[in-house]
This record gives sequence, structure tokens and C-alpha cells, in this order.
Amino acid sequence: MNRTTSTTAKTAAGRPNRPRRPRRLRRLAAPLLLAAGLCMSSLATAGPVQAVDGTVITYTQSGGRTVSFTFDDGPDPTHTPRLLEVLRKHNVKATFCLWGDHVRQYPYLVSRIAADGHRLCNHSMAHQDMGGWSQQQIRQNLEQVNNAIRRAAPGAQITYFRAPYGSWGQSPQVAASMGMQPLGWRADIGDWQPPGTGELVNRIMQRVTPGAVMLMHDGGGDRGQTVSAVDQTIPRLKAQGYTFDQPAVR
Ligand SMILES: [Zn+2]
Repeated sequence: MNRTTSTTAKTAAGRPNRPRRPRRLRRLAAPLLLAAGLCMSSLATAGPVQAVDGTVITYTQSGGRTVSFTFDDGPDPTHTPRLLEVLRKHNVKATFCLWGDHVRQYPYLVSRIAADGHRLCNHSMAHQDMGGWSQQQIRQNLEQVNNAIRRAAPGAQITYFRAPYGSWGQSPQVAASMGMQPLGWRADIGDWQPPGTGELVNRIMQRVTPGAVMLMHDGGGDRGQTVSAVDQTIPRLKAQGYTFDQPAVR
């Protein structure tokens, strides 16, 4: 049955190629393992002095039937105040990923976000794609944002960093070294091009999963539909047993 003759190579699909693949993998394996080892050792040595590590997290702090709403690209003079009202009405804390330029324009909104007990997240100065940037360039940009936030809301903690476009490059390590947790997302409701409040409500309800960080926007365009959808979905999520939690900090 299990014939191991010279014909095996012809009859067993893929077998003739098999010896080649491992050779190629072996050639790659050494540098990959070395790189992984270097990464781990640099994390390990940096670990004790950092509050967070460089992992991009996509889940809530507590897990279980919790969810984190995160709002990007603000603060916005029209939609952020409305959103804050909605969140206050439902007694929900969220996370705001702020552009430094908008922070400088509307510092009073940042202090209101912080005063309401929401979490702050650095989202670059002007939504730059940092994918190809050096660590120094990234650090400079992130420091400008943090300085603007601290001027607007003295004493506020900047817990997270989110890379514009999810183009992370070397930014997770830089953010972590500055004490900010790299913050990704598990569900994106696609509100950057408003599809109608009803559609956004459906997307939130369909895409929510236990422990998910959800990506939404309160700035960068007309976010009226997002604010209304948030207002409508919070009671429905609570009715389904969800509670609202902050994104995880490792
Ligand atoms: Zn953004």
C-alpha cells in the first residue's frame, strides 16, 4: 500500500518539489530566527523600563462581553461636542485618537474630552503615513502631538497611539518607548464615507464581537451619521449584555 519506489515521486502530488522548499526555508530560517531573537531581546531589555510593549492591540482590557469605541481624526468643532453629549447621556467612556493640528486649533475640545474621563490617543500631527519614516522622524511628530495635548489638557494621560491608515512601520516601537500603547482595531465600520445612519447602525451591530476595539470617526468629514449611529447602538449593545471598556494596555 505505502509503496516507496522511485515512482512515488511521480504519483504523490507535490513530492518532487518538497525537498526544494525546505532548502529555501532553511536558508531563510537562520536570518529570520536571528531577527526574531534580536527583536525579542531588544523588547526584553527594554521591557522593565516601559509601561507598554510594542504590540498593536485590537481588544479590550477586560475581554468577555465588552467593547471599546474609538474615534479618530478629531477633535472636530461640530461633531466632537455632539458625540461627547451622546456618550455622557449613555454614561459611556470612549477613546479619542487626535490629530495634533486639530488639537492646536481646538484645545478646548481636548480638555472637555479629558474632563469627561475619556482616553486620549495620539494620531500624528496631520495624519501622515509614517510607514517609511525613521524612528527619529516618528518620535519628533509624536512628541509634537503630545506637547499640544498637554498644553490643551494639562496632566492628561496619553494612553495610546494609532498610526494613520494603519500604516505602522516602526511607529509601534517608538510609541511604546514613549509610554503609549499602539492601538489597532478589530472592526471598522467604514464611516469615512458616510453610508447613512441606518447602515452604520447595522454595521456596528453586525461587526461587534466580544472584546473588540471598534474604529469610528468624529473628525475628518461630516460625522453626523456616526454620532447618531452611536446614540442608537449603545442602548442596543447594553441590551445584549455588552459593557464598555477601554482598549487593553499591555
Ligand atoms: Zn485617521
